[in-house]
Amino acid sequence: MLIGKSALVTGSTSGIGLGIARALAAQGCNVMLNGFGEAGAIERTRAVLEAENAVKVRYDGTDLTRPALVAKLVDATVEELGGIDILVNNAGIQHTAPVDDFPAEKWDAILATNLSAAFHSTRHALPHMKRRGWGRIVNTASVHGLVASVHKAAYVAAKHGLVGLTKVVALETAGSGITCNAVGPGWTRTELVEPQIAARAQALGVSVEEAARILLSEKQPSRQYVTVDQLGSVVVFLCSEAAAQITGVTLPVDGGWTAQ
Ligand code: NAD
Repeated sequence: MLIGKSALVTGSTSGIGLGIARALAAQGCNVMLNGFGEAGAIERTRAVLEAENAVKVRYDGTDLTRPALVAKLVDATVEELGGIDILVNNAGIQHTAPVDDFPAEKWDAILATNLSAAFHSTRHALPHMKRRGWGRIVNTASVHGLVASVHKAAYVAAKHGLVGLTKVVALETAGSGITCNAVGPGWTRTELVEPQIAARAQALGVSVEEAARILLSEKQPSRQYVTVDQLGSVVVFLCSEAAAQITGVTLPVDGGWTAQ
């Protein structure tokens, strides 16, 4: 479906971003991977994705908290893949603490990674998409772009900001062949969430699996974790022609969390 298109997926060395990269590659899309991790493991992931899907897969480890480098990451995508038709702003980090105890440097890092990076990549990618008259921007927001939870001041502020950015970009590109949407995952078991499960297990004196079940039961009515494959498929849908008139939305993928 996306044969010949080229996508930059930020934060795609693990978790949801890797699930999205896999789903896009499976549709014939060339992919630029980005994120941190062990060089050998990333190269193995890259090579397998490329071989299994007969597409170009490249990797660029740019630190997205550095705005000038984000522009270069977009340029590198265009140079190495021949364009940037799809931009998935997915990289994100978390820190939990009460707001009066929230370290200022964590606030700055979360805002830079989860929100500002999406602004910088979007502004550099849009001219390329406008020239081709086609583009898809998908931002990985969160249920926390729509509702709040305690101890997540920076994360909730950044994700609400990302939902707002998504709407503005959608309005400014409406009718141009470009759409901008967000997905709002609920609990998905990734490296970002495992520390929260471990902390809960320790606080309650229960096993990690029991803590994982308790965390779900508090917020996610389905009592099932979202999977990275499901999120990959949702992003593929938002990149499809069927979704050409869907723009400016944040689609919750949250087992009913935000329906409550
Ligand atoms: P993850 O930790 O597995 O993935 C995060 C990715 O971002 C990794 O590839 C990491 O290397 C990359 N990254 C972090 N900081 C970076 C930086 N400065 N520059 C470049 N790359 C950087 O976690 P995940 O759960 O897959 O998170 C992906 C996105 O999904 C995040 O935006 C997160 O907020 C969002 N999300 C996750 C959940 C969940 O339950 N896991 C729920 C809602 C939203």
